[in-house]
Amino acid sequence: MATVKEMPVPPLIDSSNYKEPAPIVDKDNPLESMMQRFDRAAEILKLEPGIYHYLKTPVKSVIVSIPIQMDDGSIQVFEGYRVIHNDILGPSKGGIRYAPDVNLDEVKALAAWMTWKCAVVDIPFGGAKGGVTCDPRKLTQQQLEKITRRYTANMLDVFGPDRDIPAPDVNTNEQTMAWILDTYSMHMKSTQPGVVTGKPLVLGGSKGRREATGRGVMHAALRGMGKLGIDPKGATVAVEGFGNVGSISAESLVQQGSKVIAISDMSAAYYNKNGINIDEAVKYSESHNYLLDGYTGAEKITHEQLLTLECDVLVPAAREDRITKRNAHNVSAKLIVEGANGPTTAGADPILDAKGILVVPDILANAGGVTVSYFEWVQNRMGYHWTLDVVNERLATAMNSAFDRVYDTSIKHGVSLRLASYILAIDKVARTLRLRGIYG
Ligand code: NAD
Repeated sequence: MATVKEMPVPPLIDSSNYKEPAPIVDKDNPLESMMQRFDRAAEILKLEPGIYHYLKTPVKSVIVSIPIQMDDGSIQVFEGYRVIHNDILGPSKGGIRYAPDVNLDEVKALAAWMTWKCAVVDIPFGGAKGGVTCDPRKLTQQQLEKITRRYTANMLDVFGPDRDIPAPDVNTNEQTMAWILDTYSMHMKSTQPGVVTGKPLVLGGSKGRREATGRGVMHAALRGMGKLGIDPKGATVAVEGFGNVGSISAESLVQQGSKVIAISDMSAAYYNKNGINIDEAVKYSESHNYLLDGYTGAEKITHEQLLTLECDVLVPAAREDRITKRNAHNVSAKLIVEGANGPTTAGADPILDAKGILVVPDILANAGGVTVSYFEWVQNRMGYHWTLDVVNERLATAMNSAFDRVYDTSIKHGVSLRLASYILAIDKVARTLRLRGIYG
């Protein structure tokens, strides 16, 4: 029987000593990339202009000011956002990020992404996203708690287990979810675990949530390898990013007998043709401020080399805009499984297609996280806990059937898996919208 590792709440990483590798930028940005794919799918579906506009427009965008008294007595005002892109399929779902460059446009686009992701894996949620413009690295835990509680208080009529359910995203974690749960529950005069997901186990979090995205990437990779006739045992894998998604994708693929020959994080990239010992690399990173630099179990390579290594599977699991029209020609993997959101730009899509590389797109490949968030919400509503085996088994079923639906759609329309995912998602939301009709 599978066991659950009780994890400490990971700290917000102080990476201020590290200069991140320069982004590989072309003219696309992830949000424009998404819209280009949305438009193409809408064209194939011959979406009516009214429905097209409906699905492009968020149903609600809320901006709140968050005044906080700082330690020296001064008052600083932060700005917070929550965008509900669509709630046709059910309550809206999406993370909350804290970062200096968070802005309304970004949050709007990320919210739309969540709508399509939930529809692809067939869970009854709409899409949302939230954020606060702040630099968590310059804030104390107390200040972060104050910001979170005031943000939640301002969103009391937006959030709710039946309305809109936040989760962690960039620079927020289980602790942030615990503060939101507590603030919301205090105002509702009863404990409401279903108002957030990704919370600590003791507060009603789900077993397997922490590993869900990485395990989902593994299921998508196995399915993809199956289509290409690659035996997972001994298949070579390169993983970009060694945080939650990257490290757990790597671990899970090793458990399937694959050989992870390259890993990287923002500090460094490493290669070992005989396979990297992932447990050892995880321990190294955990004891070095969550950074790989200085790891001795493999040879140092550049970040760019990792992306273009000859291997069976490439898992970009770091950040957006990594595979672009500038480097897509050099990608030598047979299969790309997108652990990150938006790692491939729209400009790179046709290049990868022409090279015959099978790409399992982000809205399918990394949907394991939101799927187990849905399981967490279901367990909260039942007032019951599932075992880790039950969670993992249901995750596998959800990921495999989503993959198969997307694959069948791609065959039916003669399009890539990426376009097929959008076609499937948009069609589902559009059909539901036609049934519900337009009120008013
Ligand atoms: P994380 O912060 O835990 O890890 C990110 C990792 O990427 C870190 O190891 C960091 O050092 C590394 N990194 C940053 N820039 C890099 C670069 N240029 N080259 C190589 N490595 C770099 O974040 P995470 O939760 O693992 O999320 C990673 C991606 O997956 C993001 O795009 C996120 O939106 C997406 N995602 C995460 C989840 C989830 O459940 N955590 C779910 C769906 C999608």
